[in-house]
Parts: sequence; structure tokens; C-alpha cells
Amino acid sequence: MLNNNGYFGEFGGVFVPEPLKNVLKEVEDSFYKYIEDPEFLEELKFYQKQYIGRENPLYLAERLTEKIGGAKIYFKREDLNHTGAHKINNAIGQALLAKRMGKKRIIAETGAGQHGVATATVCALFGMDCTIYMGEIDTKRQQLNVFRMELLGAKVIPVTSGTATLKDAVDAALNDFVQNAEDTFYLLGSAVGPHPYPTMVREFQSIIGEEAREQILEMEGKLPDYIVACVGGGSNAIGLFHPFFNDKAVKIIGVEPAGKGLDTQEHAASLTKGTPGIIHGFKCYTLQDEQGEPLPVYSMAAGLDYPGVGPEHSYYKDSGRADYVAVTDHEALKAFFELSRTEGIIPALESAHAVAYAIKLASKLPKDNIIIVNLSGRGDKDVAQVKDMIEEDETVADLLNKQ
Ligand SMILES: *Cc1c(COP(=O)(O)O)cnc(C)c1O
Repeated sequence: MLNNNGYFGEFGGVFVPEPLKNVLKEVEDSFYKYIEDPEFLEELKFYQKQYIGRENPLYLAERLTEKIGGAKIYFKREDLNHTGAHKINNAIGQALLAKRMGKKRIIAETGAGQHGVATATVCALFGMDCTIYMGEIDTKRQQLNVFRMELLGAKVIPVTSGTATLKDAVDAALNDFVQNAEDTFYLLGSAVGPHPYPTMVREFQSIIGEEAREQILEMEGKLPDYIVACVGGGSNAIGLFHPFFNDKAVKIIGVEPAGKGLDTQEHAASLTKGTPGIIHGFKCYTLQDEQGEPLPVYSMAAGLDYPGVGPEHSYYKDSGRADYVAVTDHEALKAFFELSRTEGIIPALESAHAVAYAIKLASKLPKDNIIIVNLSGRGDKDVAQVKDMIEEDETVADLLNKQ
């Protein structure tokens, strides 16, 4: 299961130029070596507990459950991790691997800046040199995250080529990686990209599902009926899903961003509306034009705004192991308000997509059913954006007033 040669069914693989292939091979060999090394795993466990603050709770949302009147809703509280989301699980894992490989310099790409912040955080922790590539347009949209990264000691390089957004930042980072492979490690932020990244990120995020599985067995004496998570690139979702893969009675649901609606061009629902193709060096479901170029995508949740999706999710979809659904901005905002006022938890806008679907699902299920929802991050980063949306759009203000 672990050594899959980088394929999940027909998806995944390594579609990159030859020099990059050699560099990726070194990462792959080291990953397979250390992921079974008891000392490496011990060190990983130490930082998960002492730095991230794991294990985090599996929390029964009693007020929300009662209000909906159906299945019991549990939240896996990744929002309580240090830095406020699941991304740190992966960043710590890859940084420790880089250290073992003798690399002194870390590079990463970032779109909205959340992965850049997680990467800058672990570089500060381990005293590593950190360079973050970010599209120039994104650096202007996300000035506060640029400052956060700089506070943490990272160098942020605005990328001006192409569209000056995430795709160009990825290209710049890959270029740097090939040029400086001797002392540099590329820390990738989601369960995407060429092998070994999707498998590696999955392994470092699987702590989510491993903990949740043990916790629900302890609390309820049985497995959940459903597990639900939002899907951008797919790392928080695969981290929850993978440890339940062989529990065939557990139904798996990934929630994609339907943005302004699946019948518009403004969404990022790669699995729901995409077709198989190759982007960023791997094969997956992707939103592409007739030439196979990635289409512009949109979600109000910056972390879900990606034209592809992890290869393992692409395989889960085709094999029928998981179902993928989509939730609009509007539905996610409603859940954002509802969770804030019913449980005192302000979720990340990304996570609010999973919450929205879980609420809809719970209302149709009997009371003895159990749903686990991954609360991938906290909403502190989103409150200013939501405030603007309320001020600009009456229908959003109405949603809040109805809670
Ligand atoms: C980045 C992010 C996501 C989306 O990334 P995945 O790789 O799909 O998990 C979801 N939630 C939060 C809070 C994020 O920061």
C-alpha cells in the first residue's frame, strides 16, 4: 500500500523533465527509508505532541446535533493545532525529512499564503533557511501573510512571470529545486504534485484519521457511519480518509467548492466537473481547456482554489470508495455563521464547506448515526473577508441575521 510506485489506479505518476526526475528520486528514496525508521518516527511524534499540540480533540457538537435533529456530529479539531490548521502536520514531517537528508535550505510555493506560513514556521523551529515563492498578485492580495512569513524569518520572492499567481510560483519553485538540489528541499503543501509528494503528504496527514478512528472507538464503541472533509488539493481529506479505507461500512464524502454555482465558470470542483488530465507533473481530475491547460478557478475560500486534485482522491472517485459533492460559497457561509453561533467555533471558510454538507446530511439521518467532520482550520484568518462580504452583499448579511 505504501510503495505504490506513485500510482493510484491510473492517477498520479511523475510527468516532469528528466533533471527534476532525478531530484524527485532522491526525495522518494529518503522518504521510504525514513518513514519506516523508528528513530525518525519517534522524533516526528515528539514534535506532533510538544509543538503542534496533538492529539487534538474529537468533539461532539451537542448543540448543533440537537438543533439539526438527526445524526450525531463530531468535529476533528485540526483548528486547535499550532498555527491554526492541519497544514503544520505535513510541514513538520517534510522538514524533519529534509533535515535527515542533510538539506539546509527549504523552498515552497504558496497561493493564499497559508502553506507559506506553515513552512516558514517549521523553518524557524529547525533553524533552516527559508525561501517562499509567491505570485506577485498574491503577495498584494495577502499582505498580512507575507508579513507573517517575514516575521518568521522567511524570504518571500514575488513571481512576476506569466499570470503572477500560484501556477507561476510553482514553476519558479521547481526551477529553484532543480538548480539547487544539492542543499535544497522543496516542501510541497498538499497531496498533489509528482510522486512521491501525494503519498508523502498523505502519510504525514494520516495522523488525523488515525487519531479520529481511535477516539470514536473509545467514545462510541463503534466506527462512524460517515466521514466528511473539504477538498482543495486534498491533504486534510486524505489524512482523515486513508485510515478508514479498509473500513468498508464507513462512507467517505469529500466536499468541493462550488463557488458561485456548478453551472457557472466560477467554481473549483475538479472531481465533480473535471476530466482526467495532467497538471503540475501528475495525472488527476482537472478543470482544463481543450488544450489541456488549467482553467481559471474560483472559491471564496483561498485554500480550495486549485484546478486539480490529489491523485488518490481521483482514484477513490473512480473506484467508488468515496463520493464527492460540492457546496457553494453561500451554503458554506451559512454554515460558517451557524457553527460560530451554535458551538462558539469560528471555522476556516474551507472547513465551512465540509460543515455545510455535514449539516445537510445529518438532517436526513437517524439519531443513532455518527458523522465525523474534519475541521481543517480556524476562521481567524477569514473574519476580515467575511466582514467585507457582509458589508457588500445584503444576502450575506441576511444569512447572519437568521442565525
Ligand atoms: C489549505 C487549506 C485547505 C485545503 O487544502 P487541502 O490540501 O485540500 O487540505 C483546507 N482547509 C484549510 C483550513 C486550509 O488552510
